[in-house]
Amino acid sequence: MEIKIVQVPPEKGKARPTDESNLGFGKIFTDHFFTMKYHHDRGWHDAMIGPYHELSLEPTAMCFHYGQEIFEGLKAYRGRNGSIFLFRPSENIKRMNASAKRLCMPTIDPDLFMEAMKKLALIEQDWIPHGRGTSLYIRPTMIATERSLGVHPSNEYLFFIVVGPVGAYYPEGFNPTKIYVSEEYVRSAPGGIGHCKAAGNYAASLYASKLAAEMGYTQVLWLDAIERKYVEEVGTSNIFFVIGNELITPPLTGTILPGVTRDSVIQIARSWGINVLERPLAMDEILSAFASGNPTIREVFASGTAAIVSPIGQIYYQGKVHIIGEGKTGPLAEKLYNEILGIQYGEKEDPFNWRVKLS
Ligand SMILES: *Cc1c(COP(=O)(O)O)cnc(C)c1O
Repeated sequence: MEIKIVQVPPEKGKARPTDESNLGFGKIFTDHFFTMKYHHDRGWHDAMIGPYHELSLEPTAMCFHYGQEIFEGLKAYRGRNGSIFLFRPSENIKRMNASAKRLCMPTIDPDLFMEAMKKLALIEQDWIPHGRGTSLYIRPTMIATERSLGVHPSNEYLFFIVVGPVGAYYPEGFNPTKIYVSEEYVRSAPGGIGHCKAAGNYAASLYASKLAAEMGYTQVLWLDAIERKYVEEVGTSNIFFVIGNELITPPLTGTILPGVTRDSVIQIARSWGINVLERPLAMDEILSAFASGNPTIREVFASGTAAIVSPIGQIYYQGKVHIIGEGKTGPLAEKLYNEILGIQYGEKEDPFNWRVKLS
């Protein structure tokens, strides 16, 4: 399928943000977006990059009622020499299609998906900020659009991709976060959709996050739904523990999101000779390590596209606060952050062939 392109005349474009240190996240969107429609009888059609505009949907569009909404999140980076890169975009495409299957939504041809992201990023390349750590955030989204109040998989969908400049996550250096272990609420259960980037997962997580915020914590550490015993994820990121000489992260058993950053951390750490274990990690094991210091919990950090790695300095669990690494950023988190950022911006070797160069 051809992607039709309708350019906004330059004089009609939006004003560009002038202050790159104040972009924030997900507030600014560019002049164009990609759209493509699906109908059960026709398949995907009308692929187009055109002027960014409001959507018009009926109040009975199924996405408003039964939650068929999935998305992805990745970034385009501007390297120092002006080149533009994506980081492992095929992984996001694969994951979006896996989410689509689980939610009975149509999959998208990976080549067309890739072409749409590349073309859109290039059309909007002037919007990609220059500062190290800044980027153009890419948000592919699919929603059910059939007007119907009967519960069934929608027969019509809209796929769109919006992009917008985002600021550096750590403009003033690392600041370890405080996390709150939720025992009462869970975000996902075995057999559910916890492994999908589906809107409902975030709706389900807001209440516990709000309670944690009220107690002064940045994020919720989620436990498994059955035993409330095993660590799963932190907020909307994957989690890693450096205990003794091992790097431990929960396995992909269907209740956690298979993060692209998680996989990158695992592969890089293994290439450095670190013993990486994907295995269940119980709070009891963590508590006894905190109590005895043997083995030592050296570092805890979260991983995700937004921050790459985000060090955790404190964990609140059952009325007690546990401090990790004196509340400071650990050396492995910092080294991984610099390595992945260096690959993304074209400054370091790319031994795994993760970068996709757009220009
Ligand atoms: C997006 C997301 C992650 C991180 O995935 P990345 O591909 O590394 O950005 C982790 N957990 C949840 C719940 C997420 O939504």
